[in-house]
Amino acid sequence: MYQHTNIENQNIPLPLGKVVCVGRNYAEHAKELGNEVPDAPILFIKPATAVVSLEHGFAIPQHKGNVHHEAEIALLISQDASQILAENAWSHVSHVSVALDLTLRDVQSKLKEKSHPWEIAKAFDGACPLGKWVHKDAISDLNNIAIELYKNGEQKQKGDSTQMITPIPELIAYMSNIFTLKAGDVILTGTPAGVGPLENGDGLLAKLDGQYEFPSKVI
Ligand code: ZN
Repeated sequence: MYQHTNIENQNIPLPLGKVVCVGRNYAEHAKELGNEVPDAPILFIKPATAVVSLEHGFAIPQHKGNVHHEAEIALLISQDASQILAENAWSHVSHVSVALDLTLRDVQSKLKEKSHPWEIAKAFDGACPLGKWVHKDAISDLNNIAIELYKNGEQKQKGDSTQMITPIPELIAYMSNIFTLKAGDVILTGTPAGVGPLENGDGLLAKLDGQYEFPSKVI
């Protein structure tokens, strides 16, 4: 069972809720998939059943086509947020981490062709490996959070929150005007360019803020 835990291995006493995600929040990533840059955030939700710990390795769906990694900055909501303003957004967040927005890319492409929702491609069990939480006060600059992903020793993704089309405070405010964000909910903030397929046995290393490392593997 997944439980929110910080990098000191202490439990964070908040219940895991929904995971609210944004698509195409980095222009370079929208481009690499041949998508237009949206004029408002594209939101979708992964249920709590999608979340697994990143730390011990995770399984990917078999025989369902390509499974892509999307490394993303994750935020832990610590105080309920409904219809909040961007200037107050960080006061509703206690911790930052990395998550993988695992995506069945071939399945998603077919859904997109038919203009169908993406849940089947993004909300399956295990679709959200999530790292341990770093307190936001331990992040060097909340306005410029760096994220990297290495696969089998090779850097695949690199970006930072200054490249986001909708910056974190505005994104949280926007989400809170559609869904009430509950303490224990998680926000995924979109992926930088460099997404690609995962195979069984791949070794992964995600880095946050250039200083926190999250090793994992596909088991
Ligand atoms: Zn994503």
